[in-house]
Amino acid sequence: MGKTLVIGAGGVSSAAVHKMAMNADIFSEITLASRRKFKCDEIAEGVKQRTGVTIATAEVDAMDVAAVVALIRKTGAELLVNLALPYQDLKLMDACLEAGIHYLDTANYEPEDEAKFEYRWQWAYQDKFKEAGLTAILGSGFDPGVTSVFATWLRKHKLDTIRQIDVLDANGGDNGQAFATNFNPEINLREVLAEVRHWENGEWVPSAPMTKKVEFDFPGVGKKNMYLMYHEELESLKTHFSEIERARFWMTFGDAYIMHATVLQNVGMTGIEPVMHDGQEIIPIKFLKTLLPDPGDLGALTKGKACIGDIATGMKDGVEKTYYIYNICDHEECYAEVGSQAVSYTTGVPAMIGAAMVLKGLWREPGVWNMEQLDPDPFLEMLNTQGLPWQVHELDGPVSF
Ligand code: NDP
Repeated sequence: MGKTLVIGAGGVSSAAVHKMAMNADIFSEITLASRRKFKCDEIAEGVKQRTGVTIATAEVDAMDVAAVVALIRKTGAELLVNLALPYQDLKLMDACLEAGIHYLDTANYEPEDEAKFEYRWQWAYQDKFKEAGLTAILGSGFDPGVTSVFATWLRKHKLDTIRQIDVLDANGGDNGQAFATNFNPEINLREVLAEVRHWENGEWVPSAPMTKKVEFDFPGVGKKNMYLMYHEELESLKTHFSEIERARFWMTFGDAYIMHATVLQNVGMTGIEPVMHDGQEIIPIKFLKTLLPDPGDLGALTKGKACIGDIATGMKDGVEKTYYIYNICDHEECYAEVGSQAVSYTTGVPAMIGAAMVLKGLWREPGVWNMEQLDPDPFLEMLNTQGLPWQVHELDGPVSF
């Protein structure tokens, strides 16, 4: 159906490219390009073994717009799927505009020298994409991504309005490591240690990281401590569903993770400013990333389940209702299917489905769109058949935490 160029060859990319190859009727030709070609070749080898599909590989620096444009033209791709890092989003959007193809990513732009992720930089591309007749889909992972589509589905089928929404992300997986992040360590630690904000009554309410803790009994996972965090879908959800009074994001962390992250932060290892070491300039968090396990290698070691979803309260025909909509995903089943742990899988599968929506022409409105602005039904139908089945239950009332 369509030629696709995937940029970035990490854990998320590996899961996404495997699932694209398993849907060869939609993804007729796949090229995988990244900074280091051997990483692409390793993924291509795994894809060939598991699916029999051959994918092309290439080396490219995503920050080099001319090089990306040349690669797009060479491959004839009609869609670029950005599974590199948030720092590259704007350059890759520029390359898509120049080459005249559609764009999709899983994380919003963040300047490398400032740990501040916001949508305003990418939203500023709205007119350019509209005028070019091209589509850019932002945040097609699980959170953001599926959690935003879940919210839209609830608002389309179960609720007339959403008054409050909590996104709950539990990873009950154990990888046996003293300390490891389950996606890119640099991006993960910048996110986790950022100032917390949640949306309440028309304003952002700030709080210190890792201070608001609640125990929650997650379906399939069990009781876990979850912490209030800032996450990018809060910004887009409160913008696109303007009736929302309160939007919060929660993620589970074990005590060992909190202890390590706190110590690393206290000693300056998570710093993003360059420091001099033995006459050489280094950026502490980049050095730390080099020391930590590569999340892409944790698949074989991780056991347990993840559960991610939304609890939303709102009105339906004048009556207040609360729903919990979620997916439960098993780390070992993901590994058996595509050689990835559940965090890469739960991000890579929605990236593939978002890309399929564009290639099938179902999500093709020109412009720049967050996931909650698009029709949730075909996306969620495919989520059910592509390894991430979801369920929805009515709760007795709004959350009490
Ligand atoms: P990884 O670090 O494993 O992979 C990133 C890949 O991008 C690497 O292959 C890296 O190359 C490549 N890359 C980095 N810089 C460049 C560049 N300048 N040019 C070309 N390639 C480059 O990250 P993950 O797979 O864990 O995460 C990928 C993305 O997914 C991130 O943006 C992350 O924020 C997002 N994500 C989204 C989630 C969601 O639910 N929405 C959840 C989890 C992650 P090299 O190997 O050479 O370093």
